[in-house]
Amino acid sequence: MTKREQLYEGKAKKVFQTDDPELLIVSYKDDATAFNGLKKGTISGKGVINNRMSNLLMQRLEKAGIPTHFVEELSERETLVKKVSIVPLEVIIRNIAAGSFSKRYGVEEGLVFDTPTIEVSYKNDELGDPLMNEYHAIALKLATKEEIETIKKYSFGVNEQLKAFWKECGVTLVDFKMEFGRLSDGTIVLADEISPDTCRLWDSKTGEKLDKDRFRRDLGGVEDAYREIMKRLVEHV
Ligand code: ADP
Ligand code: UDP
Repeated sequence: MTKREQLYEGKAKKVFQTDDPELLIVSYKDDATAFNGLKKGTISGKGVINNRMSNLLMQRLEKAGIPTHFVEELSERETLVKKVSIVPLEVIIRNIAAGSFSKRYGVEEGLVFDTPTIEVSYKNDELGDPLMNEYHAIALKLATKEEIETIKKYSFGVNEQLKAFWKECGVTLVDFKMEFGRLSDGTIVLADEISPDTCRLWDSKTGEKLDKDRFRRDLGGVEDAYREIMKRLVEHV
């Protein structure tokens, strides 16, 4: 597949057109940002890890009946994906309180929920990704009611699959962010990435953070944590 002009450069990935109008190539960078781009840095080797991890997890999700944009891993950093029109919503599932949830509601990090929660933010950097409910999303025509129902069903399905898988690896899935998109025929699929950049992953025994919080919070050992979480995954696929 020939790589054509760059369509977009985001904070963590570049997106290229290909010969096929329905397919794109995403290229994972080592660049890391946090707090809506205010904090910038590099996590050496992150792009390679996130590319591989996202692809392995998406292939697993496909097997479990959840459609994704994944087509083929092309190289260490590059993957062929189905082109989608991104639904501009960041969907977050939480199993345990952490991060912005703990701050917003004044609860300790680590509070385990009886059932997972879902929330959506408007994917809009200028506005700082404001939280919204599904009525707001429908009113702003970001998605239809039917699309939101599908997105919710897939999101909880992804959570069940990933939670069970990470458990086998000795890792607790605390929360994670997803993006969905529409194929040219309108089919909703899981897009973007699933990686330590977009998930909170804690060692089940020690509670050690094995994700981007090490970068956000200056905890040190960022590269080691990415390598460790990748090792856990590879041992169990
Ligand atoms: P950001 O835009 O938040 O800085 P990235 O650096 O990860 O994020 O850039 C990747 C961009 O590509 C994101 O805007 C994401 O929504 C978009 N994207 C992810 N998967 C697809 C896809 N299959 N088709 C089209 N766009 C996609
Ligand atoms: N997340 C993400 N991109 C964002 C915001 C959040 O990938 O723009 C992920 C984050 O890694 C975490 C989950 O979504 O796994 C919940 O994040 P939270 O709302 O707690 O925000 P944060 O504390 O990261 O600001």
